Amino acid sequence: MARYFGTNGVRGTFDKVNPELALSLAKAIGTYFKKGRIIVARDGRLTGETLRDAVVAGLMAVGCDVIDLGVAPSPVAEFLIKKEKAAGAVIITASHNPPEYNGIKVVDGKGVSVSRERGGEIEKLMGETANAEWNRVGGFCKCGEFIKEYLDAVKRIVEPGKIRKRKPRLVLDCGNGTASIIAPVLFRELGCEVVLLNEEIDGRFPGRPSEPTKENIKELLKRVPAEKADVGIAWDGDCDRVVLVDEKGEYVIGDRVFALCALLKLREKKGDIVTTVATSRAIEDVAKKYGVKVRYTQIGAPYLSEEMAKGKAAIGGEEVGGIILPEISLAKDGFSSIAKIVEALSEKKLSGWLREIPAYANVKEKIPADEKHKKEIVGEMEKYAKENKLEFIDIDGVRINLDEGWVIVRASGTEDYVRIFAEAKTEEKAKQILEKYKKAALG
Ligand code: MG
Repeated sequence: MARYFGTNGVRGTFDKVNPELALSLAKAIGTYFKKGRIIVARDGRLTGETLRDAVVAGLMAVGCDVIDLGVAPSPVAEFLIKKEKAAGAVIITASHNPPEYNGIKVVDGKGVSVSRERGGEIEKLMGETANAEWNRVGGFCKCGEFIKEYLDAVKRIVEPGKIRKRKPRLVLDCGNGTASIIAPVLFRELGCEVVLLNEEIDGRFPGRPSEPTKENIKELLKRVPAEKADVGIAWDGDCDRVVLVDEKGEYVIGDRVFALCALLKLREKKGDIVTTVATSRAIEDVAKKYGVKVRYTQIGAPYLSEEMAKGKAAIGGEEVGGIILPEISLAKDGFSSIAKIVEALSEKKLSGWLREIPAYANVKEKIPADEKHKKEIVGEMEKYAKENKLEFIDIDGVRINLDEGWVIVRASGTEDYVRIFAEAKTEEKAKQILEKYKKAALG
């Protein structure tokens, strides 16, 4: 059977993710949710409108009522699910992928995105979905009020008075994505001075590639010190991921943003931290400081949200800069998390805050391997860990925790690679760990 769902929805270039697929998937999604109200949103990609129309047609045909947000950031659509008592959401986005890509992300009524496993259940319904009777097709409404509701929710998790007093100066790199719908108004209303970069929504991403890597946000790195700003903020195309630039123009990698946000959150209210097995030890350091537990999950946003749904977590996040604050939703949200950090600038500068987060260096490598070889490599790693009585986690690949750092060997779910990733206090030490365990895993 054809498989469409990956770790976070259906993703591909327009020759594969086309209106025909969108229509048949949407009918299956509507059937999976057993009708009800479904929120639909899209990012600013050129293929978004045609895919949206196909998705809306499919959902309505099987009897779902559609609430269409038009172009909106993913976290905003995910936040509205609860508010609107919707059965779920369908978001047409390819996140940070190049412009020729698009995707269909499915989120359930709790705000948990549908994993590969649950996607399989939707795929089984494809082609077996009957249209509703002529007088039972779903309704359609455009929702224009969503921005204010979302902004109010974010404002409730910070103390706007603190921000207004400090009046931080921010450079916002919207990356031609959907960030410009929320970020400028949110931070201005919170009392910040705002400088905008790449603020026009453009599905060709003319300003910079959509993924906020250090290489891709060079302009922001320069602009922050040039503007004498306190912080630079860069989102991916659908705003579930975010990275920062400190006042000196230094890039702040996603898992340090996550660790800082966790620190700020935990000093207010204790609770577990939920994260994936690929996240920096800095998270464990923060957890130790506040005496809370780290709960590890498989890599992929749906697994994080599923674990958050079990409760008792104060914050969730992943290493690329996706942070979940359960007060807002169970989905990664690149605005609420940053609002917490902007609030903290009233106490000290961003670089000062970051000094409280232990720094680690990491190295990565990809080993080409087919399906059979992938299993063998990961199996060897587990055998090595057991034989040498090392502490390891086998939720997703094998992560071995060492005194001087940690290393993970993991099969890629989408490509013919095994990924190996090591972290330690220094780059040299991380390299040594990587080489040693690569040898062990290759047998
Ligand atoms: Mg994204």
